[in-house]
Amino acid sequence: MPMQILRGLAVSPGIAIGPVVVLDPRGLRLPPHSIAIDAVPGELTRLDLGLESARIEAGRAETEARSRLGPQYADILAAHCRMITDPSLRRDARKLIEQNLVCAEHAVLDVLEGYAVRLERLADSHLAARATDVRDIESRILSHLIGGSPGSFQDELVAPTVVLAHDLTPSEAAGLDPNRIRGFATEAGGHASHTAIVAAALEIPAVVGLGKFLDRALHCRMAIIDGGEGLVILNPDLETQERYFKTSNERSARFQVLMQQADLPAQTLDGERVELWGNIEFGGEVEVCLDRGAVGVGLFRTEFLFLSAETPPSEEEQYQAYAAVVRSLLGRPITIRTLDLGADKVMTYRKAGYLESNPALGLRSLRLSLRDPDLFRPQLRALLRASTLGEVRILFPLVSTLAELIDARAILNDVAAELRAEGHLIREKVPVGIMVEVPAAALIADHLAKEVDFFSIGTNDLIQYTLAVDRTNETVADLYCAADPAVLRLIAMVVEAARNERIEVSVCGTMGGEPLYTMLLLGLGLRQLSMPPHQLPEIRRVIRGIKLETARAVAAQALRLTKAQDVVELLETALSQVLPEPRDRSLSLDRV
Ligand code: PEP
Ligand code: MG
Repeated sequence: MPMQILRGLAVSPGIAIGPVVVLDPRGLRLPPHSIAIDAVPGELTRLDLGLESARIEAGRAETEARSRLGPQYADILAAHCRMITDPSLRRDARKLIEQNLVCAEHAVLDVLEGYAVRLERLADSHLAARATDVRDIESRILSHLIGGSPGSFQDELVAPTVVLAHDLTPSEAAGLDPNRIRGFATEAGGHASHTAIVAAALEIPAVVGLGKFLDRALHCRMAIIDGGEGLVILNPDLETQERYFKTSNERSARFQVLMQQADLPAQTLDGERVELWGNIEFGGEVEVCLDRGAVGVGLFRTEFLFLSAETPPSEEEQYQAYAAVVRSLLGRPITIRTLDLGADKVMTYRKAGYLESNPALGLRSLRLSLRDPDLFRPQLRALLRASTLGEVRILFPLVSTLAELIDARAILNDVAAELRAEGHLIREKVPVGIMVEVPAAALIADHLAKEVDFFSIGTNDLIQYTLAVDRTNETVADLYCAADPAVLRLIAMVVEAARNERIEVSVCGTMGGEPLYTMLLLGLGLRQLSMPPHQLPEIRRVIRGIKLETARAVAAQALRLTKAQDVVELLETALSQVLPEPRDRSLSLDRV
C-alpha cells in the first residue's frame, strides 16, 4: 500500500511512530496485519476455530429465527451458514495466511471484503444488496476470532502500537496504557472533546476528526501520528520516517532546553508576572505539573475517578484519592472541580437507560450534582475532609444561573456543618469558585462575582455554547474557534467583572495553553493561566519573550476586529514578530 497523508485535528502534541492496530467501526479490535512465519500454523488453527464457532452461532440463530420469525428470515441465516462453510472462503483465507503472512482476522477480512466489493459493483440491485450479508458474516467471524473483552486488545500487543479507530470515548482513552499505545487517530471527535483532553493528559500524541479513513487503513502496517500538526501518515516511506526521526530529535533537544527553564518565572520582558497552573485528570499528573514549573493545579477534573467505575466511588474512596493528590502538591494550591459528568463524559454504570437526545444541553455537570444529592454530598464531604491537608479550592462547573450557585453553596455549607457536627476537622474558609463556561454566566459575571472567591473561564464549553458548535463533532470542527469576536467579548466581560469585584480570574480551557492566544489573554487582563502540563514550558517561553504593553495593544486591536480569521492572522503576526525562532505549536516528548 502506498504512503498516504491524512489531515485531521491536532489535539495532543508529539510524534508517534509505530506498527498499527485498527479498531474497526464495529468496535472490533483488529490485530496487526502481519505475522511471523512461525505463527502460520497457529493462525490456520485459529481460522478453522473461528469459522466453526461462527457456523455454530449462525446455525443456532437460524433455528431460533425459524420458530420465532418464520422461514423467510430463517432462510437468510441459512444462507449465511452456507457462506461461512463455503470451501472457497476457507481456501482463500488459508492461502493469504500461508503466502502473504497475514493474521487470520485480516485474511478473513481481505477475502470477504473482496466478495462484498464485487457484489456492490453489480448492476443488479438485488445482488448488490447481498454485500450487506457478506459484511454481516464478516462481523460474525471476526468477533469469534478476536473474542475477549473490548478493552483487552492492549494486553495482546507485543510492541508499542499506534491505534487507528473510528472513535474512542473519554473513558476508553483514559484506559489506554501509554507504555503500549504510542499514539492514536480517530475518524470522529472535535478539538475540545474530552477524549482529546485525556490524550493530552496521558501525553499520547493524537489526531481526531479525520473523517472516514479506516477502510484505507486496514492494510496499513505502520503509521506516523503528528499530533502537533494534525497529520496521520499511513505506510510512511523511508524518507518520511527519517525526516520524522530527525524532527523528533530536534524537538526533544528544544524540549530539554525548555525544561531547564522550568524554574524561571513566567514574567514578561517588562516585568509582569503571570501564574502558570496545571490541569489534571489523574493524580499521577501532579508530578509532571511540578516538574514543569506549575505554581499549583488550576483544574482537577474529578469526574475521571467516576468514568470507568462500575459504581460511584464512595466518600471514603474519594477522600483517599483527593487526599493523595492534595498531599502530593506539598502545600501548593489545588482547585478541585466538583463532578462535571454528562455530555461526552458518561459513567459506565449510567450508560444504560441514560440516553438524552441533546446531552450537551441536558442533565450534565452541576445540574446533575444538584439533582442527585447521593452523588454530590459524598463528593463535597470528601473534598472538605481533604481540605485540611493543603490549599484546597472548590470549583463548581457549568454554572448557568445565580440560583444554581446559591443552591450549590447552600449544600456545601450544609455539608460543612454536618461534618463539624460529626467532629471532623475542616478548613475554616475554603475558597469557592465557578467555571464561567456558559454565555449566560459570562453575561451576568458582575452578579456572580459578588458570590464567589474566583472565576475560572472554561473556554472549551464557552466556545461550544457561544457559537452553538458541538465541541466533539468533527463535521463542524472548522466552526469551533477561540478567536471568534463573540468569544473574545465574553472573556473580556468576565475579566472586567472579576477586576471590579477584586476576585481572581483564570482561564483553564484549552485556549489557556495555546501559545497563539497567550498575548491576547495577557492583554485582556488575565494573570493566571491553567493548562495541560505539557504546554507549560512553551507558554512560559512565550510570556518571557513578550511585553505586556504589546500584549495590551494586540488585545485592544483584536477586540475591534469583526471576524475570527482576522483575529487569528493578527495573533499569528504578533507572535511571529516577537518570537521569530522555530515555534512548535506545543512541545512534548515524542514516542518514536
Ligand atoms: C472547559 O470547558 O473549558 C473546561 C475546562 O472544562 P471541560 O473541558 O472539562 O469541559
Ligand atoms: Mg467545561
